[in-house]
Amino acid sequence: MTTIKTICDNCGDVELTPDEIALELEPSEDHGHYVFDCPSCGSLQRRPANPRVVSILLATGVAYRVLRPEPITEDEIRRFAEALNREVDPFRLLTG
Ligand SMILES: [Zn+2]
Repeated sequence: MTTIKTICDNCGDVELTPDEIALELEPSEDHGHYVFDCPSCGSLQRRPANPRVVSILLATGVAYRVLRPEPITEDEIRRFAEALNREVDPFRLLTG
């Protein structure tokens, strides 16, 4: 299986498989972000993906979703941040 090398803020170099990564694309853009749970420390990582990274991730079979076009409001960011502070497993918030 394809291995994707990336960086965790806590651990440094880590290796992931495509099904451990989710790609978030901006509407009408060729760049976005990718998110993953670090296999070493378990923390949620979110990193920018430039067009080259996006094409590589898509080529390896990483699942993606296009973010809704409406900008996120300050209130949504605040509530999400509060939820993250309460949530033991932040990644669960992204799957609901
Ligand atoms: Zn880590």
